Amino acid sequence: MADAPDMATQVVRRLEERLNLFHMSNGRVVEREFGPVWDGDTDIGFLWKFEDITESYKAKKGLQLREAKYRTIIDNMQLGLVETDLEKRVLYANPNYCNFIGYTNEELLGNPLPSLLMPYGSLPHIEQQYQLREQGVSSSYEMPIVTKDGKTKWLFTGAAPLYDQEHAVMGTIGISLDITHMKQLEQNLREAKQQAEYSAKTKELFLANMSHEIRTPMNAILGMSQLLAKTPLATRQSNYLHAITTSAENLLVIINDILDLTKLDAGQMTIEQVGFNVTRLCAQVEKTLLYKAEEKGLALNTVIDSLVPDVVLGDPYRITQILLNLAGNAVKFTSKGAVTIECEVAGVESGAVWLAFTVRDTGIGIDPSYLKYIFQEFSQEDVSITRKFGGTGLGLSICRSLARLMGSEIVIESEKNQGTTIHFALALPIGTVDDLPPRRSATSPNAQELRGKHILLVEDNEYNRLMAKTLLLNAHIKVTEAENGEFAIACVREQRFDLILMDVQMPVMDGFEATRYLREQMGQTTPIIALTASATSGEKEKCLAAGMDDYLTKPFYEDELLQLVYDWVLRPPGRPLPPAAPPKVAPVPQRQLYDLRLLESMGQGDQKFIASMLQTFISSTGTALRDLHAALAVGNLASLQAAAHKMCPSLRHLHIQPAIELMDTIENWAGLFSYDDLQPIVEVVDLQLREVIFAMSAELEARRTGGA
Ligand code: ADP
Repeated sequence: MADAPDMATQVVRRLEERLNLFHMSNGRVVEREFGPVWDGDTDIGFLWKFEDITESYKAKKGLQLREAKYRTIIDNMQLGLVETDLEKRVLYANPNYCNFIGYTNEELLGNPLPSLLMPYGSLPHIEQQYQLREQGVSSSYEMPIVTKDGKTKWLFTGAAPLYDQEHAVMGTIGISLDITHMKQLEQNLREAKQQAEYSAKTKELFLANMSHEIRTPMNAILGMSQLLAKTPLATRQSNYLHAITTSAENLLVIINDILDLTKLDAGQMTIEQVGFNVTRLCAQVEKTLLYKAEEKGLALNTVIDSLVPDVVLGDPYRITQILLNLAGNAVKFTSKGAVTIECEVAGVESGAVWLAFTVRDTGIGIDPSYLKYIFQEFSQEDVSITRKFGGTGLGLSICRSLARLMGSEIVIESEKNQGTTIHFALALPIGTVDDLPPRRSATSPNAQELRGKHILLVEDNEYNRLMAKTLLLNAHIKVTEAENGEFAIACVREQRFDLILMDVQMPVMDGFEATRYLREQMGQTTPIIALTASATSGEKEKCLAAGMDDYLTKPFYEDELLQLVYDWVLRPPGRPLPPAAPPKVAPVPQRQLYDLRLLESMGQGDQKFIASMLQTFISSTGTALRDLHAALAVGNLASLQAAAHKMCPSLRHLHIQPAIELMDTIENWAGLFSYDDLQPIVEVVDLQLREVIFAMSAELEARRTGGA
């Protein structure tokens, strides 16, 4: 292609060929050559030479055909092809390449390409590319060019070295695709994403502000109602107050629903993975709804399958939210009979348990024609529902979104006037006691113990301040008030406090800034509890990151506030300030067979206690192992499970990890295994525990002889 012969030379060549080539009837091709024969000066005739050149003729023709074929392809393809020499001068450009860049073939041939097309910024890049080619390297790249009429276009180019007949690099051959349109789309997409992110941020900000604005007065209404309820009231006043409280609580539910919905829409709802106890969770749900159920004369039952593991990992807050909603509806739409909350084990799968939750009622039921729309936002079966039962029609839609975030679906079965059954199932990893968040305090706040403690209350809103102050004064706590962060700092300079309650959003200096100042500039270690009105994600993290120790979401109840104050002011001496995340016991190193930290903290330094616990463990484990083998030998499943059950608590106390899991399997799932499967499990447990007993005996011995 580089040396295409001109038209005239081609025509002459073809004429010569035709005069001296003979195509024979048998398909052979013969070439004739001749020359005159002289006798002295006399021309006496010609010498003719005929040669059969069929094979070489066919090969040459084939080559010509192939070349013509590829040239047609190159000329017509949607890709641009250009060849340049080592000085970057154009040797050949196909019509499409010319179209891309707006120059004619004549304008291009012999001219250096980069200086024609490259915007200033691309020159170093294209230089690099040419250097690669000189080293015989191929590559592909995207690059902007400027066309003859000044437009910027993007080309995607695959380029390779161009070789001469001696196989020396003589230039570059590049095939390019015009990707301007794609680049434009990419740019639009990037802009749209930035726009969306900006909108989401604005929405989040709006939400944070809105939740603050609405929740702050709600805090005052609910708080003042609580205080009012403690004063002597006539029956009528009491009824009015009850109506105010109920409406305020309902309003709070609606605000929370709308906030949840917006968070779900914005994809900002996160699902936690923490250890929790299902039975306790369901009991809490039951406790919350018991009052309403009893008021309506309904039985409220909770049934938990005995196979449900003690600890599972998941999001207890969201599961509670779903159960409260479903069971709350069940109570709301049932006038006689019972509401039942059930949790059953539906299966086990690689370390996780399938928990099937069911909420059943004997209420008004749901019309099949409405069931199709039940999950739509703001949908209710008919308008009379709102009038009669209240609600927003948002609950189930939120439940479904939450369930889906946890990989589950909500399934509803219902018959009009018979009742409704709603299920959802979750696969939750099985955890250990170590996964449970540390309990705040086993003791309930005792107002007497808080008497005389001194709290700094930093809050700009007068009502909120009055409310919190009154609750604290009722518990005989001394309160100093500050209107903003700056006043708070001034107070701390002057006197010592047992605790600081710090509002987050305040004029002049907000709670985050004030906390950072107290911690970083003044080295204050007094517990600081954030009072936040915002329910948006990240608020809690922001409080902890600023150096606060805990937080309380407004509106709060008296017992919540006092509990928190109690936990932080009267925490046992030596209890470290809880870090931002719940402190997890550091994982036991691989080869540590057991861990005495729990025993040590229980024994509070009493070495005799530890030694006697270890001794008891050794002897009881020996007995339990014997029981385990005996039960296996006679195939008595119940005894096998009983032996495993007996051992589990002490294994947990001492963090004997692999054995805990195996014992758990035996205790809870032995029924699912055959004898052949159980035997190796027991063997492994046996081996592991013997190793532990051996190490423990050695430690006991060392303790006795003073070596430990
Ligand atoms: P809300 O309860 O706030 O109205 P939901 O989304 O929780 O909103 O429920 C939507 C509608 O579904 C309810 O208004 C009611 O018509 C119907 N519904 C939900 N649960 C039940 C139930 N257990 N029994 C009868 N109807 C129900």
